[in-house]
Amino acid sequence: MGVEPATHKKIKKICKSNNILPTFAAPIFREKEMDKFKAYKLNFSGLKIGEHSFDFQLDEEFFSAFEGGSILAADLPVHMRLLKTENGMQLHFSGKGTVQVLCDRCLEAFTLPLDFEEVLHIRFGQHTHEQAEDVLVLSHEATHLALAQYLYEYAELNLPMRKVHPEDVDGNSVCNPGMLKHIESSETKEEEIDPRWDALKQLIEK
Ligand SMILES: [Zn+2]
Repeated sequence: MGVEPATHKKIKKICKSNNILPTFAAPIFREKEMDKFKAYKLNFSGLKIGEHSFDFQLDEEFFSAFEGGSILAADLPVHMRLLKTENGMQLHFSGKGTVQVLCDRCLEAFTLPLDFEEVLHIRFGQHTHEQAEDVLVLSHEATHLALAQYLYEYAELNLPMRKVHPEDVDGNSVCNPGMLKHIESSETKEEEIDPRWDALKQLIEK
């Protein structure tokens, strides 16, 4: 049984805000998805102790495989340094590129630079489980680690809270003026009180 990536993310967020640890582990989330994310699957069983490098490319196809996210498309290379020790591994992710998101103000897609550093600590233990947000325990039998969910969350969680078109050199907004006008007019329309409510109110008060 797998957990949908979007649901998985929601559960994680709820757990995080309530300070509890999710009881499922990302590497086992969805067998079928594994094929789609073959390129993001790490086979660590044959790796020697020491440092190794990997590169991943996150693009539109990658992000479209997840539901409910903010990133529409991307040109986001992620470099991963892996340090293997006797007891586990340390994964250092450096992502630097651009993503396409919807503007919070005018709702039009625009390109946003994204730059992040994340670390995932892996230890080996009895069974696979997430010990903390950045600590994963893998069972001694594990040979592979699905990184797609981690890469997706690192990109999404590093987006700014407010995603709006950048200003031009003169400090003017480059939001789509037509869209802004449209949003403004529909907002005022919503504010106008429907006369039918008054009639209904009178009926209730009677
Ligand atoms: Zn905008």
